[in-house]
Amino acid sequence: MIRIERPAEIDVPLVFDSPHSGRDYPPDFDHRIDRQVLRQAEDSHVEALYAGVVALGAPLLHALFPRSYIDPNRALEDLDDEMIEGPWPEATRPGDKTRRGVGLIWRRLRGLGEIYDRKLTVAEVQHRIETCWRPYHAALRALLDGAHGRFGQVWHINCHSMPAMGDETTPDGPALRADFVLGDRDGNSCDPAFTRFVAAELGALGYAVELNDPYKGAELVRRYADPAAGRHSLQIEINRRLYMDEVSLARAPGFERLRADLDRLTAAIKRHAEAALGA
Ligand SMILES: [Zn+2]
Repeated sequence: MIRIERPAEIDVPLVFDSPHSGRDYPPDFDHRIDRQVLRQAEDSHVEALYAGVVALGAPLLHALFPRSYIDPNRALEDLDDEMIEGPWPEATRPGDKTRRGVGLIWRRLRGLGEIYDRKLTVAEVQHRIETCWRPYHAALRALLDGAHGRFGQVWHINCHSMPAMGDETTPDGPALRADFVLGDRDGNSCDPAFTRFVAAELGALGYAVELNDPYKGAELVRRYADPAAGRHSLQIEINRRLYMDEVSLARAPGFERLRADLDRLTAAIKRHAEAALGA
């Protein structure tokens, strides 16, 4: 349920991951909501936008399962146990995202309705954790540890896309968004100079960039970041209006231009990381 696009040899201290672009809907999902509507939860095409990083010498991990089935960018405790039939055997700690219906197992979709007309069994939630969440995290950790072990530092780029507007499930409400939102958990998940560098590169390419608003970075950057130990994680959210139709999910004419700009950005990130290693 995951895939790693690997270069012949990993020779740069960069790891890219796309946790939300999966579109292989497992037969046991059993959701009520219309499939095409549910697919609006995907960060569609993000793994294709970053495909060029493999030629740069970096691996790209991406989920094949959809984020609405189980979300690898949430902690296992971030679970709404009212969705589950019978007692959940572990402790839960539902956070703000769970209250908005978008925790570990999503409950509802952006004002479009409830995903299920049933409760989920303990066994099926455990199955999603074991077949999707844990393999994704194990793969990401192995890639990050491998690069860190070899180079002494690692730059992890956590790749996402966002709807053009917020809504009631997001902290910003119904507001238009910038072209890119960089999330470093308010300066805590990577060297702030790295965030400024990426923002400046995107600005030079002509894009409007916001920092940590409305997305600061969630579990995947929180869990693996340790800037003092040379582990830098940055979340990059791309506005979907730059490259796709948000209802049909089709690629828009801007797709190729954006992909070419991301090739320029990731090449610049590589130079930045190599310069930091040499310093
Ligand atoms: Zn995402």
